[in-house]
Amino acid sequence: MSAAPLTAAERLQQMRLTVSPNIQYDLDSVFPKVNGWLVKGPIKRKHKLIVKVEPTLEEILRPGEEVLYIAKGVQYSFWEQYFLGAWAALINQTVFVLTNVRLLMLHSNTKGKPKDMSWMIYYSQITHFKSGWFGAVVVKLRDGKTFKYGGFTGADRKQMPKVFQQVANAYKERGFDPNVSQSRENLCYHCYSIIAKKEYVCSKCGAEYWQPSQIAWRSLMFPSWGDFLMRHYLIGLLELGGYLFGWFAVVTLWIGALGAADPSVMAFAAVITALFLIPAHGVDAILTYYIANKGLNRRLPPDPSRVHASEYAEIEVDGEPQS
Ligand SMILES: [Zn+2]
Repeated sequence: MSAAPLTAAERLQQMRLTVSPNIQYDLDSVFPKVNGWLVKGPIKRKHKLIVKVEPTLEEILRPGEEVLYIAKGVQYSFWEQYFLGAWAALINQTVFVLTNVRLLMLHSNTKGKPKDMSWMIYYSQITHFKSGWFGAVVVKLRDGKTFKYGGFTGADRKQMPKVFQQVANAYKERGFDPNVSQSRENLCYHCYSIIAKKEYVCSKCGAEYWQPSQIAWRSLMFPSWGDFLMRHYLIGLLELGGYLFGWFAVVTLWIGALGAADPSVMAFAAVITALFLIPAHGVDAILTYYIANKGLNRRLPPDPSRVHASEYAEIEVDGEPQS
């Protein structure tokens, strides 16, 4: 009665879904479940995400690099949720791309279209990659950092640790353990080379990035400035509006207080002014510093005169059989 099970490639063909011929995929790994009931919906959704990520992948992947899995989650931290609320979810959308060489993390919009920031982790830098409580995916790194993600499907949470384990074992077998400047390396927005920890100029293309302190300093002087520099335009506008409204309220208060010529009313106005200015400038600067530190924020485009040597920039695909 039932036909022979299909391979992932056959299922995609049957569903008239295509993937980029310029990208090397292990389709049976990317689509581990293509037979049985209700498989078409998840395949369609996964394919939709893949199509959004492919233009970036075509530039980022190195010769010999093969895609094993793609999924989207949201990085989660209790404190960010507390301080930033819904905005935290927006700036933390992350597409995971597991290849035979590394785990790529691409900051994306809610649909999975990659945005400015991207990172990579060699599997030898991952000490723990598992599904945790409440549907979380937990990635612990050799330099002590831990990243938690929500929003992955049950299938993602099952397949990603499996793929990770397979590649991590292969890494061990061939003793592949590239030098890193930090476990999760920042990638250049323009050429996708590694930009080492605490460096803000790409050694390969000469593009320059903002240092977090440079952005935070500007937010301290003028709230919302940092948000605009990080290209968080909507939140920047909201913050600017709130800030100007705050000044309007403070000035109105002072006009009333000076008119009343009563020292206690003026003291009250002074307290309110401080309660407005300190968080508006100080807290914004601290949050801006924290957010700017997540990855690289574009400042100047590539420039050959800034190209220089760096021991970490090259992506190692070492030891892969050439096909
Ligand atoms: Zn670059």
